[in-house]
Amino acid sequence: MCKSKSYTGIDCFRFIAALLIIAIHTSPLVSFNAMADFILTRVIARVAVPFFLMTSGFFLISRYTRNADRLITFIKNTALIYGAAILIYIPVNIYNGYFRMDNLVPNIIKDIVFDGTMYHLWYLPASAIGVVIAWYMVKKAGYKKALAVSVILYLIGMFGDSWYGIAEKVSVLKSFYGFVFQITDYTRNGIFFVPVFMILGGFIADNNYKFSFKKSMLGFFISFAFMFVEAMMLHHYKLQRHDSMYIFLLPCMFFLFNAVLHFRGKRYVWLRTSSLVIYIIHPMIIVAIRLFSKILHLQELLVENSIVHYIVVCLLSVIFGIAVTILWNKYKPGKPKHISGTDRTYLEINLDNLEHNVKVLRKAMMQNCELMAVVKTEAYGHGAFEISTHLNKMGVRAFAVATIDEGIKLRKYGIDGDILILGYTSIQRASELKKYDLTQTIGDYDYAKALNNQGIIVKVHIKIDTGMHRLGISADDFVEVKRIFSMRNIKVCGIFTHLCCSDSLEEDDVLFTRSQIDRFYGLIDVLEGSGITIPKLHIQSSYGLLNYPYLKCDYIRVGIALYGVLSSPNHKTELELDLRPVLSLKSKVVLIRSVKEGDSVGYGRNFIAERDSRIAILPVGYGDGYPRSLSMENSSIIINRQRVPVIGRICMDSLVVDITDAGEVSVGDTAILIGMDECGGLPAPDVAESYGSISNELLCRMGARMPVVTI
Ligand SMILES: *Cc1c(COP(=O)(O)O)cnc(C)c1O
Repeated sequence: MCKSKSYTGIDCFRFIAALLIIAIHTSPLVSFNAMADFILTRVIARVAVPFFLMTSGFFLISRYTRNADRLITFIKNTALIYGAAILIYIPVNIYNGYFRMDNLVPNIIKDIVFDGTMYHLWYLPASAIGVVIAWYMVKKAGYKKALAVSVILYLIGMFGDSWYGIAEKVSVLKSFYGFVFQITDYTRNGIFFVPVFMILGGFIADNNYKFSFKKSMLGFFISFAFMFVEAMMLHHYKLQRHDSMYIFLLPCMFFLFNAVLHFRGKRYVWLRTSSLVIYIIHPMIIVAIRLFSKILHLQELLVENSIVHYIVVCLLSVIFGIAVTILWNKYKPGKPKHISGTDRTYLEINLDNLEHNVKVLRKAMMQNCELMAVVKTEAYGHGAFEISTHLNKMGVRAFAVATIDEGIKLRKYGIDGDILILGYTSIQRASELKKYDLTQTIGDYDYAKALNNQGIIVKVHIKIDTGMHRLGISADDFVEVKRIFSMRNIKVCGIFTHLCCSDSLEEDDVLFTRSQIDRFYGLIDVLEGSGITIPKLHIQSSYGLLNYPYLKCDYIRVGIALYGVLSSPNHKTELELDLRPVLSLKSKVVLIRSVKEGDSVGYGRNFIAERDSRIAILPVGYGDGYPRSLSMENSSIIINRQRVPVIGRICMDSLVVDITDAGEVSVGDTAILIGMDECGGLPAPDVAESYGSISNELLCRMGARMPVVTI
């Protein structure tokens, strides 16, 4: 599937960037033309480091995060690489007389934290510090604010770098930078330089913000032209203290990165590793070539001719980089490769199918009507994090949950847009409603009064009872509804009702549903007539859309249909949409054994073998959500495209299947308990119906403890 396409462009450009960085440190054109060398190494090559930083940001910084695990792994790996690089360069440091400098200890600390113990190593501590700043800013304040702050940091850095000549003339600034330069040699570091590029990378990843290749290239060339002029001007007036930060470097990188993203296809992991090795090792190669040519009297050829020097450094660095990569891949310490989570029992969530369903549902909806994704109960067991972050990235901006804690969780995952709580929330938690910008459903008048009396302004949707007789103010009580609109601390953003038999096309049910709809619109008319500005309206859930698609309203609260299934098999609906199931429940055979005729299997000796049999044990049970009552219903599951019967009682953590007639089955084989395969599979509605339930209930159970794997 196209999903698995990798960012070939990023892999390849890393390599190019590594060669550009070698150029910065060797000045390839200097023996021919100083200006040309300036342009190559101080302007063009300045895209290299920001590119590395944006790549890290692209894969790491996301406002959608469940925890800081990935951040911690990144910092640990960077620290390990940095530690190794420091050790590798100690001989060069000794050779350069590093350890003979004054104030050795403070200087070592300063170098380790900011400047690097070798000139190029600043990058490693900088990316570790920068990533923490970027990560927390995006998490706490969102992209807009994080970007604003990081651009300010960048500008502060820039005036201590390329634009220092200007800052120097203002005495306050001069003393400020004087102070900064006591702590760090350059402002190009983890605080001023790194965060903005990391955040830009993350921003591009999260927003699917992609210009066409043409536009990206156009943007790149225009910004590059400006950057060129900027650099030439600064150079001409000798304003540069250092030359890595230009104002136009920011748009330049934004467009360049967008352009590079267009190259998708094969993954070149070896290019990634070798680019890193090249980056770290090339200064060593430079020293080695100098020593070597001194001994062999080849300086004229290998050092003094800058272009030959550059090519030789590149060649040796690349050879070294590839060699280390090969060795590393062969002998790298550690863990055997496995996709985390799939070793026992897991939910496989197909995000392509989710996207497909959203498209199909949106198409079926009336114009100006928005999809409100119902993601209560861990998104019907699919994993609220995986589902809602993906929907948000797709542009879904309205969500519904059942409880305030589900709503808070979504906010902590980074979801933006409206989040409506469909159920009851204690009025004592009004401040949390406000803090997390959640919208509360008002289900009765007294509740509205009590909530209003909390003195905290909260957004609400009023729920109208038109016949379900659950939560909801009666459609006849328009005086009460009207009063809620005038409550001081209650901001009514929506008004809705819920249909109780919209899934049925029986005549009585259709009549009842029509009466519900009429009562709702009747109330709206009265409210409008009495001068109230009508907020957002919504009526339908999944079946409401499928059977009554033409109602005029602002939202449709779609739950089960979003997950690509109906509640029961063979449900007839007015609209028949091509919905695709998102969830599969899969497990692994962990043990195969034989039982003799007459042996029993499982609790209660419920199953007695009628013949000598082969049985397989699967590590999945009702503790994972797979209903125990299925054991009484001759249920079956699929292993290697064959249905095999579940025998004995389903336990909390395991179940047993009879594989006597199933041919080849081995330990480690994957079993499908819910989900489709080439031969039809086991759709959730069928499994649910077989124990007398509906797919909504079956799926909700899955949120208990299983890992979610997205494909
Ligand atoms: C759960 C729920 C929905 C979603 O229903 P589906 O049938 O799954 O689409 C819609 N509205 C309310 C009020 C709900 O509680």
